[in-house]
Amino acid sequence: MTNNPSAHGRCLCGAIRYTLRGELADVSNCHCERCRQFTGHHMAATSAKVDDIGIQDAESLLRWFFPVPEAGYAFCSRCGSSLFWQSAGEPARWSICAGTLNPPTGLKTTRVIWTSQASDYHDRPDLPELATE
Ligand SMILES: [Zn+2]
Ligand SMILES: [Zn+2]
Repeated sequence: MTNNPSAHGRCLCGAIRYTLRGELADVSNCHCERCRQFTGHHMAATSAKVDDIGIQDAESLLRWFFPVPEAGYAFCSRCGSSLFWQSAGEPARWSICAGTLNPPTGLKTTRVIWTSQASDYHDRPDLPELATE
């Protein structure tokens, strides 16, 4: 965990902005097929408690897509930015697409997961991988 008292982020068009409070998780790169399709490469995400996430979305542009009932992906319906994902197994936390945070984030990428589902163009990352199955 990284001690990060406050962070700000936004989508590409800027219509959706958010703030995060409290401890943010280290960044994980998820290469699973769903995250790959959602982001166009891999999901690089930190996470925070839902109660610590404040969203400003005056035009109600945030949309959730559930490719399966247990995983939801949130994006801006104007610009298409990938913003959040949520696992039904952990409803009190959301993952946050780290690239949408305003730098400097103070975060570190510390693990990769699901590289077995990475596309063939991607060189195997030089990071410790957690067992996934
Ligand atoms: Zn947007
Ligand atoms: Zn994934």
